[in-house]
Amino acid sequence: MKIHEYQAKEILSEYSIPTSKGAVARTPSEVEEIAEQMGGNVVVKAQVHAGGRGAAGGVKLVNTAKEASDFAQQLLGSNLVTHQTSPDGVPVNEVLVEEPIDISKEYYLAIVVDSDARSPIIMASESGGMDIEEVASRSPEKIIRVAIDPIVGLQGYQCRHLAYGLNLPAENIRPMTSLIENLYKVFESKDCSLAEINPLAITTEGQLIALDAKLNLDDDSLFRHPDLSGLRDKEQEDPLEVKAIDAGIAYIKLDGDVGCMVNGAGLAMATMDTIHLANAMPANFLDVGGGASEEQVAQAFKLILSDPNVKRILVNIFGGILRCDVAARGIVEACGSEDHTVPIVVRMLGTNVEEGKEILKSSGLSVTLVDDMKQAAQMIKNSIA
Ligand code: GDP
Ligand code: MN
Repeated sequence: MKIHEYQAKEILSEYSIPTSKGAVARTPSEVEEIAEQMGGNVVVKAQVHAGGRGAAGGVKLVNTAKEASDFAQQLLGSNLVTHQTSPDGVPVNEVLVEEPIDISKEYYLAIVVDSDARSPIIMASESGGMDIEEVASRSPEKIIRVAIDPIVGLQGYQCRHLAYGLNLPAENIRPMTSLIENLYKVFESKDCSLAEINPLAITTEGQLIALDAKLNLDDDSLFRHPDLSGLRDKEQEDPLEVKAIDAGIAYIKLDGDVGCMVNGAGLAMATMDTIHLANAMPANFLDVGGGASEEQVAQAFKLILSDPNVKRILVNIFGGILRCDVAARGIVEACGSEDHTVPIVVRMLGTNVEEGKEILKSSGLSVTLVDDMKQAAQMIKNSIA
């Protein structure tokens, strides 16, 4: 789960990481009021669950409260499109108004779970700021990486290695090592998958300050953080994924056009591989779960049908606890009386498979029944016009 910059900054402050003074607003007049109190000179920042706001015009330094509210007027209610969003962008419903900081240099600091290292790693660079992605791809040697053993924890020497590697002015070494320790405390205690400060600035007065903050939280740990689950902003999330979460279905939207419904995460992964082998791209990952009910199958299938990118559907059910007849009834129920023209390829095996197939055959839907994955792949291939 992602949270907003202002929410992340509140958490960082609780862990003694310096951030700018600011307040969040939902209307231009609120922005004007806050900016007025700060003396007019402020930074106005769109609050969206995406980076790249600076380059996309979502961040502005202004000199008067009027300018602040004019900019907020422009942003609030609009969609911000950045290189990290879909072409439709994400809605801006809130802006953060902050006291501006005079920046001397911008650094990059992040902690992320690294699957290669099988541990959290810290990444830091003295070339921080808006071009960090370019730095990462063109001159990766400018990014220092340190893996943290989760049992042993972050060590003092690792913090010093990072701080010296950043070529910081001598007086910033100690503050930086404490800041890194504090960021790791945030990462660990909030069960983050990502904790990123970019830019981590040194001001013209020589102080370290987090000018931006991004915390991604592990969904599977949210039950341990009831205070954090309340920060979910569904309007920033893909509407289909929100529906899926509410229905208890494991669904991830992808870029392709083959909708797929599978029971079991491993089988779902294998099914996506099969789709790739057929030179097609899955529109989603979807695991209805081992013991799904007819209702859950129907909800899952409706999700797929409501995705405008879906041109064909592959259903792969291995009927164990979820019986094939239950899955078939769910599919028929989801299609209802509406005239769905998307071709559906169904591979079913296991408990009550004959009954399941019969239900689909007599449903009047355009279903092709296949017996194995190879055939399923072939059918997907054939359906590419
Ligand atoms: P992002 O583009 O979504 O990552 O948004 P950021 O919060 O990182 O802001 C983008 C850029 O705006 C930063 O890299 C800074 O250069 C600039 N910026 C943000 N806050 C301030 C500030 O208080 N003062 C100054 N001078 N620049 C700022
Ligand atoms: Mn940033």
